[in-house]
Amino acid sequence: MSKKFSRYGILFVISAPSGAGKTTLVAALRQTSDLVYSVSCTTRAPRAGEIDGEDYQFLSDADFRGRVKAGDFLEHAQVHGDYYGTLGQPVITNLKNGMDVLIDIDTQGAAAIRHCDDPFIRQALTDVFIMPPDLEELRRRLMKRATETAQQIDSRLATAAREMELWRDYRYTIISRSVEEDLQKFRHIMSAEAYLSRRLIQN
Ligand code: 5GP
Repeated sequence: MSKKFSRYGILFVISAPSGAGKTTLVAALRQTSDLVYSVSCTTRAPRAGEIDGEDYQFLSDADFRGRVKAGDFLEHAQVHGDYYGTLGQPVITNLKNGMDVLIDIDTQGAAAIRHCDDPFIRQALTDVFIMPPDLEELRRRLMKRATETAQQIDSRLATAAREMELWRDYRYTIISRSVEEDLQKFRHIMSAEAYLSRRLIQN
């Protein structure tokens, strides 16, 4: 007799220091993969071309604090002097509906999710670190992007150097090459994770 199987969604957490090519990789994944992108909240000012509700939900400090108090965030952290947070409810609803979710968060946020109290979230988690090329290349990329001041670039590079030490905490590490190669590697991870026996539910 054939049995029917289904599974809950996978929570893909991707972290990479600024300038590692993560934004391009995430944009490509959003366009081409069957997953839901979790739009974070932030108190940082929008960059040119960023769309409220699509890139981030841009909040005032007071609104952000209100949502922290209301317990709306699955995790939140201060990064480069601004606050960033992942809303819990949409993530959990999508996972329960069997949709894979992608969240792009820093190493503090990834650690918070890895150690969160909710066993459903911990089971769903697949965390991936994108290891950038060397720091000089990162500096070149950040300078080319020209969205930060020299001081902000220095701060991002100092954070990048610290974050690059944390790759061992992640289940997967992709050594970043081109967007195409990184995308292909990420897709391999997505496929393999979808076949994990422990994710299957027998109906
Ligand atoms: P950016 O300001 O360049 O868009 O993002 C700065 C850093 O904040 C990146 O490392 C990004 O992954 C991280 N980030 C974005 N959204 C969140 C979030 O919701 N939570 C946490 N902890 N980090 C986030």
